[in-house]
Amino acid sequence: METITTFRNEPLRDFSEERNRSDMEVALSEVESLIRSKALHAAPIVAGRRREGEEPMQRRDPSNTSVVVGTTELASVKLAEEAMLSCLAGFPGWRARPFSERAAILQRAAGILKEKSAFLAALIVREAGKPWREADADVAEAIDFCAYYAQEMLRVGPARRTQDVLGEDNVLLYQPRGVAAVISPWNFPLAITCGMAAAALVTGNTVILKPAEQTGLIAHELARVFFDAGVPADALAFLPGRGETVGRFLVEHPSTALVAFTGSRPVGLEIAKAAAEVRPGQRGLKRVIAELGGKNAIIVDDDADFDDAIRGVLQSAFGFAGQKCSACSRLIVVGDAYEPFLARLAAATRDIIVSRAEDPSAFLGPVIDEESQARIASVIEAGEQQCPVLAQAVLPQEVSRSGTFVAPTIFRDVPSTSALWTDEIFGPVLACARAATFEQALEMAVASDYALTGGVYSRHPGHIEKAREHFRVGNLYINRSITGALVGRQPFGGFAFSGIGSKAGGPDYLLQFLEPRVVTENTMRRGFSPDLTS
Ligand code: NAD
Repeated sequence: METITTFRNEPLRDFSEERNRSDMEVALSEVESLIRSKALHAAPIVAGRRREGEEPMQRRDPSNTSVVVGTTELASVKLAEEAMLSCLAGFPGWRARPFSERAAILQRAAGILKEKSAFLAALIVREAGKPWREADADVAEAIDFCAYYAQEMLRVGPARRTQDVLGEDNVLLYQPRGVAAVISPWNFPLAITCGMAAAALVTGNTVILKPAEQTGLIAHELARVFFDAGVPADALAFLPGRGETVGRFLVEHPSTALVAFTGSRPVGLEIAKAAAEVRPGQRGLKRVIAELGGKNAIIVDDDADFDDAIRGVLQSAFGFAGQKCSACSRLIVVGDAYEPFLARLAAATRDIIVSRAEDPSAFLGPVIDEESQARIASVIEAGEQQCPVLAQAVLPQEVSRSGTFVAPTIFRDVPSTSALWTDEIFGPVLACARAATFEQALEMAVASDYALTGGVYSRHPGHIEKAREHFRVGNLYINRSITGALVGRQPFGGFAFSGIGSKAGGPDYLLQFLEPRVVTENTMRRGFSPDLTS
């Protein structure tokens, strides 16, 4: 089998090493002193200039909501129009730059992100409430996206001859599409925002970057990294703003050529619909790339290694408090393994350490904000009316009082008709059910609107083979956890209601940001005039 890439990923920090721990501690105190001096501030950047927003939005630390981490100024629709004009004007110049130069800029961005990695991870800890390891992985993935898409651009960029034929020259080449609206979620505030923007930029599109309202500070750092790396002022606008106003405006704008969106299914569907409508002055169909949610299942076979499976299920279900599109939210255990596996899972869940994200021992931190906390709490409450609770971790009092924490909760015997089984919850909630056979488990796993990730723990080669064939999801993991896809190694993304894009961090991704052209020339040169050289 052919190997696709020799790309090398940015290593994750090993916090069992003193040096790495102390780097992170230093960075956390740096961020703490910026917070204390009220120095963290993100304002829109349009045409290279810092601009006033119309609405200052305070961001509170999810681990301790009495602390304001910083302020993001949300842009007005009027400023979004200015951003559009600037990026439209900047497009021809950026498109004309050789692709190798744009790739070199991304490489420089990767270098700057690496230099600032501890600071960026510490900011993610405080703004998004991600525990250390998760915050570090977010930064490493952003570095990978820049380096990988730079490398990919060098592969995709050169024009290629389609066939060797006498008397005719046929060349396939790619051109950028125009102004890209990049609309990102808060759950990978650096990596996903960076990945979509980097891909759009390196392919020669100009970018209006609209991050999620909750994580404007980290996105602002990213925009500064791109400018410092050499992205021209009129090739990128940083536009924090409300989704329903500024986000919608960008999607509907007749000059938007492409929307790169990662977020929830309802918003994704709305964007797909709004982008399909042709508006006065529009010059072409809009391309929409939409990476949406998941309702991902892990199957534990009756012969699975329980130690591995318990670790993998907990990591997949409760890493970053279940707020990953790839998270496991359904567990299917085969046959007689159901009761003993659930007994061990319950015991392990009660031992989970829930703490503030800046506490290095935290396995599970807070959820993103009060709105999410209330929503997840009501899902748990409704679930309790329908299904038995298998286990719930205990929230230490000082923790639950200070931030937006939700106790990780596991339900058992969940029927396939229950909302716990069908709907994305995006929090630390896991629904379990028993399957009589492995085949039935596979049927249950794929009976979902979503098709993002999935996992199987089994020692049965025949079952693993069946899973490879029938467990149709974007990313299937066998005998390991189902989160933490690495750029280049596990190109990431799903289908059905999980999205309509080619996999991020994979060999097809950049092509979505480009339009292919073919130029054919008759080279028999009848009537050719050698004098006309200029
Ligand atoms: P969200 O859909 O609420 O918001 C995402 C972005 O869309 C934000 O920037 C928001 O401001 C903007 N937005 C909101 N309404 C808009 C509108 N009408 N028009 C244009 N933009 C609008 O999602 P979220 O809560 O930030 O993120 C969580 C969701 O993202 C989950 O569903 C999760 O599964 C999904 N997600 C998917 C992937 C993936 O790769 N498939 C990765 C991460 C997150």
